[in-house]
Amino acid sequence: MCLFAEPTTLPPADDALIADATSLVLARSALAVSPSWMPVRCPACNHAGPMKRHALRACWWRDVPSDGRPQVRRGHIVRWRCTGCQQTHSSQPNWALPGKRLTHALNHWVQEALQEGQSVRAVARACGVDDKTVRAWARHARSSS
Ligand SMILES: [Zn+2]
Repeated sequence: MCLFAEPTTLPPADDALIADATSLVLARSALAVSPSWMPVRCPACNHAGPMKRHALRACWWRDVPSDGRPQVRRGHIVRWRCTGCQQTHSSQPNWALPGKRLTHALNHWVQEALQEGQSVRAVARACGVDDKTVRAWARHARSSS
């Protein structure tokens, strides 16, 4: 799955820019990448920044349907290395649901649609996924709420 695969290629234009957190954020600010992507502390050793050696990988997440059509939101998964323990970690955008390929917004939308009595099938069709996926999302939401 997307989160754990090694990046295969990086956008060539970005190579020179992937040097440290500051240049990454500056280079990407035009594309609305938020610095809040970057964790404040390393989850492995609790070392507080700066985090180094980023790699970016383009990825996408399903988003709230618009005009009855499925939508996706594109973003990047950031791979970073802690300067304290040298471990690498991945961070996904803060608008993406951890561990799932959907946005928080779509997750809300799906839960509301189901609560309002829309069928799994109708929700699945609107999102461009199959029924099983919608049931998995619903289970995930219940187990994490
Ligand atoms: Zn660390």
